[in-house]
Amino acid sequence: MLPRPVFVGLSRFRWLILPCLAPLVLLAAEPVARKRVALVIDDGPDLRQNTAMLALLAREHVRVTFSYIGKNVVAHPALAQAAATAGHEIINHSFTHPHLKPMSDADIAREAADTTAEIEQAIGRKPAWFWSPYLEHDDRVDAAVRRATGLDHFPFTKFHFIGSLDWEAPTTPEKYFQLSTTGIVDGTVILMHEWPAVTLAKLPDVIAELKKQGVEFVTFSDLAKPAAR
Ligand SMILES: [Zn+2]
Repeated sequence: MLPRPVFVGLSRFRWLILPCLAPLVLLAAEPVARKRVALVIDDGPDLRQNTAMLALLAREHVRVTFSYIGKNVVAHPALAQAAATAGHEIINHSFTHPHLKPMSDADIAREAADTTAEIEQAIGRKPAWFWSPYLEHDDRVDAAVRRATGLDHFPFTKFHFIGSLDWEAPTTPEKYFQLSTTGIVDGTVILMHEWPAVTLAKLPDVIAELKKQGVEFVTFSDLAKPAAR
């Protein structure tokens, strides 16, 4: 038994304490919203930064989607294999990185099919998606690619798309960081490249900030998985 004066003292505060606890209970009951982000790293495999980039992603425990150019895979099949072995998703970014829309169906088919063949030879499986250079494609390009390879163009317009502009000169680490970490929602695709120095230097800060925002890093295929999309 508490001495009477103490008991009275506590009970006087119960109306103050209970309303304070109520929001905490509500907070605990609320399901945690997912914030899935797919980083797509274009134009590799590129000898200049590939190994350092893979080491960085391994350190950060982040899986990405690497969009590979066929002729680069021919030049560096071991780099493509290392990325695939590390668990990253590999996709087809054409053979020579041309503007596809003015090209004939046969030439588009060759760009896509040759790249799929080289990726398959390097990593032992087909690329997961087609991803057009400069994001320039239309129904005819998509159909030609699909006939030649069975691959769909990744439907990035269904997601929140961010271009990090790491490929534009002059960019700055601050601009790249700001673009890559602002307005992130569940189902965001962020385009960056394997070769710019700014990307390699600032990506750890970008990843740290995104993790702070509660981001879960996924691949294109992970993002496309839910049937509702
Ligand atoms: Zn590209």
